[in-house]
Amino acid sequence: MLVCMDPDRRVLRGDLLVRDGRITAVGPAVSDGIARDPAVAERIDASGCYVLPGFVHGHLHTCQTLFRGHAEQSDLLAWLRESIWPMEAAHTEASIAASARLAACELIAGGTTCINDMGSVHHTEVTASVLEESGLRAIVGKALMDRGDGVPARLIEDQGRALHSGLALAKRFHGSGDGRLSVSLAPRFILSCSEALWRDVRDAARELGLLVHTHLAESRSEGVEVERAVGLTAARYFAEHGLLGERFVGAHGVWLEPDELAAIRSAHAALVHCPVANMKLGSGLARVRAWRDSGIRCGIGSDGAACNNRLDMFAEMSLAAGISRVVDSGGPLSAREIVELATCEGARAIGLGATIGSLEAGKHADITVLDASAPELAPESDDPYVTIVHAMRAAHVRLTMVAGAVLYRNGQWSGLDPERVASEARKEAAALLRRTERP
Ligand SMILES: [Zn+2]
Repeated sequence: MLVCMDPDRRVLRGDLLVRDGRITAVGPAVSDGIARDPAVAERIDASGCYVLPGFVHGHLHTCQTLFRGHAEQSDLLAWLRESIWPMEAAHTEASIAASARLAACELIAGGTTCINDMGSVHHTEVTASVLEESGLRAIVGKALMDRGDGVPARLIEDQGRALHSGLALAKRFHGSGDGRLSVSLAPRFILSCSEALWRDVRDAARELGLLVHTHLAESRSEGVEVERAVGLTAARYFAEHGLLGERFVGAHGVWLEPDELAAIRSAHAALVHCPVANMKLGSGLARVRAWRDSGIRCGIGSDGAACNNRLDMFAEMSLAAGISRVVDSGGPLSAREIVELATCEGARAIGLGATIGSLEAGKHADITVLDASAPELAPESDDPYVTIVHAMRAAHVRLTMVAGAVLYRNGQWSGLDPERVASEARKEAAALLRRTERP
């Protein structure tokens, strides 16, 4: 069954033709042609499956995958200051490569085909190379930090250097991997960036057409420190400084007031919901129905493995549905709306809605195939969205394809050896933890 996520939200029986990395035809009418066409190089049998556009993961940090299980029981700012920043400061090229590879393994096996990644301050070019090699589609940004309480000295760069290396990354990787990779500017959040850096980011992003990827309104205590530091909430600060725009992507947005949502909407900026991370850090319950009702483009993501501890879009979708049921009592998000966050709407949120996020002729062949015949899914709901959001797990992913290339099929990765990746990750994580100087 083709769950197209196209503008008509068609769910069809039929086939899908891929040529040169793009979807060229979708639906029952193409099936006979495919069956008879000798030029078709490979036929993938997806009977008993749902065929979906690959998941678009709106916000994560592949550099934090090695920290999984090593930053527990904290709220946001303590978690950053006592664990995450010290561990990021201890990264080497080898450890950050191992971290990104470990993330890629999990993401690909979970049906994710595109990620919006925020790197650390150093070695983001290594992350970009690993992601390019992995076959994923990715937007990568180097975390920009030129100030901040509790930030290790190694992660603070002066404003000019921070921006310069962010732009150097863009010069090298924007459009690389046959267009699969692009580069954002990623000032980490208000508390780690000076006003001059925000201004430079705004101007450079406008000039070069780059995405600005940041965090905002994640936790209450962060909000208090932000207002103390700049006299405004994050959203109002971004609005006042001209940061909000159609290429602005803000993760979390848990604590946004109606006037802030209105400012985000009128600037055509986007928000990314990270439900599991928001629960695990105790940050709060984002009101995604209000985002959508305001007309804001929105996506969904896991955030890093250190605050989740999975990179699993099924876990995010399931919890997003549950949270919406609790906080949006007037109109919880439907299962279909949740799948939209993870596919077509998520793609729009990160500026890729024209090329990915749905099964339509002309779009990149970024596809995931889910086994809908597993016994634990029986008896099947008439509504495939309900099955995807509430019953399926990453274990039901049978195949993941990006730009027409199969990256994962029936438990086998095409380009990654998961045992080697995990053993390298364990070794690098142990060494990184030994190097880490916690405050
Ligand atoms: Zn984050």
